[in-house]
Amino acid sequence: MLSYGSFALAANVSPVASLSVTVLDATGEKLEHAVVSLHTNRLMAYNHLKHSIKKREAENGTIGVILIGVNRYKQIVETLAHSVGDQMVHALSTQLTDIQQEFDLLARVATDEFLLLLTDSDYEQCRTVAHEIIKKLALPITLHDAEFVPNLSAGLVMIPDHAASAEDAVRRASIALSDAIDTIESIATYQDGRDESHMRRLSIVADLRRAVEIDELTVYFQPKISMDSMQVFSVEALVRWIHPEHGFMAPDEFIGLAESSGNVGILTQWVLKAVIEQLSKWEREGIKLKAAVNLPALDLQDKSLFSRIKTLLESNNIPPNRLILEVTESAMMRDTESALAVLAQMREFGMAISIDDFGTGYSSLAKLKDMPIDELKIDRAFVTDIAPNSTKAMIIKAIIDLAHGMGLTVISEGVETQSEWDLLNELGNDVVQGFLIARPMPAADFTKWWHETYPKGKRSAA
Ligand code: C2E
Ligand code: MG
Ligand code: MG
Repeated sequence: MLSYGSFALAANVSPVASLSVTVLDATGEKLEHAVVSLHTNRLMAYNHLKHSIKKREAENGTIGVILIGVNRYKQIVETLAHSVGDQMVHALSTQLTDIQQEFDLLARVATDEFLLLLTDSDYEQCRTVAHEIIKKLALPITLHDAEFVPNLSAGLVMIPDHAASAEDAVRRASIALSDAIDTIESIATYQDGRDESHMRRLSIVADLRRAVEIDELTVYFQPKISMDSMQVFSVEALVRWIHPEHGFMAPDEFIGLAESSGNVGILTQWVLKAVIEQLSKWEREGIKLKAAVNLPALDLQDKSLFSRIKTLLESNNIPPNRLILEVTESAMMRDTESALAVLAQMREFGMAISIDDFGTGYSSLAKLKDMPIDELKIDRAFVTDIAPNSTKAMIIKAIIDLAHGMGLTVISEGVETQSEWDLLNELGNDVVQGFLIARPMPAADFTKWWHETYPKGKRSAA
């Protein structure tokens, strides 16, 4: 089915970085055999695609671009060995070469990715081919006496419907491939607009470092109020970013990107510095507060975090017991041993440790007793619209009783209504954080709020 007249490439992978490529003519006859690098292979595939696009324009045809990837290849290599990954890809490329009559070009374009082209096929045909390839390749491969079943996904782009140039087509196929991993069928077609959001995410990652350097970020503070005394002992610091192009950005949009791009450490350092300096400023104004800072999972791997926090506290003359570190339940669970060791060290020094978004992870309540923690924050999902005698209320009651049994303070997040407050109070909750009391606000607004809310003499100090 080689409709494109010059040649097709069938990539055959050697276990080393280079790979051999068989160049075929239009009839499938072998022309030459060469060992080329991945880079050369990618270039050859690009050139072939460019050529096909030119030809298509003249003939008004279509080109289906399918990118096949090995799911979780990085984890396979990390947990098993590079040699296992190499051998798996080698076995896959051999099998792909065997079934190459179904498509016009096959090239290995990344360590774990193969590019397939189908000229003059419609969308349904391309989908069927992608589906069949994934099925055919999902056969057990024996490596080091163990059987592995490769899990593959495919991203699909149709030229001209989804892309006009070779660069756009390959990039969009890659975006579709990353979408495909989360689908049941393991195949995804490029969706309009995904490229723009992909580009936006890339530009956000690039801008974040600069934003940290030029203080484009700002910290908002939200009070946590004690239900018994109606006093505010602490605030949670929540980062905000006014992006010059995208405007106000909520942390949910950029924290995840900062984490996955390895930039979250500089962000945490910036927030810690801003918060500790603010504590010192408030102290000089007679406001003595504790502040909670969110600590992402990745930071718990950072051996220098403790000494950096210590230096910041000392240089601002703030005792460690004025800092609370909020770590999500899932972050604590991810790498329990080393995460717990870091947290235990912080706690020993005097900082308080809080489990954030409790109830959304998978930790058993029994595990809590082994953790170096002081407080537990019940996730908003359990609090919103809580009703008497509901399952949510029963869960909250169970969490509160258990936490109290272990000497922990319980904070409920996201309290927006008086009825939520009343019920939480009845269930024995200690501290509330939510829009009912105050939204997160810039430091200056918080200071104003504090003075207005607390009559003289009732101001609380830690
Ligand atoms: P989180 O730590 O659980 O923070 C609580 C979130 O709930 C905040 O969202 C807060 O604005 C919001 N919230 C508080 N009360 C209410 C309420 O009554 N109703 C509703 N609907 N929402 C309420 P925000 O500021 O958008 O932050 C979202 C998440 O982003 C945070 O969840 C935290 O995980 C992360 N985050 C925020 N700031 C930072 C930071 O400086 N560093 C890191 N690593 N993560 C941060
Ligand atoms: Mg938090
Ligand atoms: Mg939370």
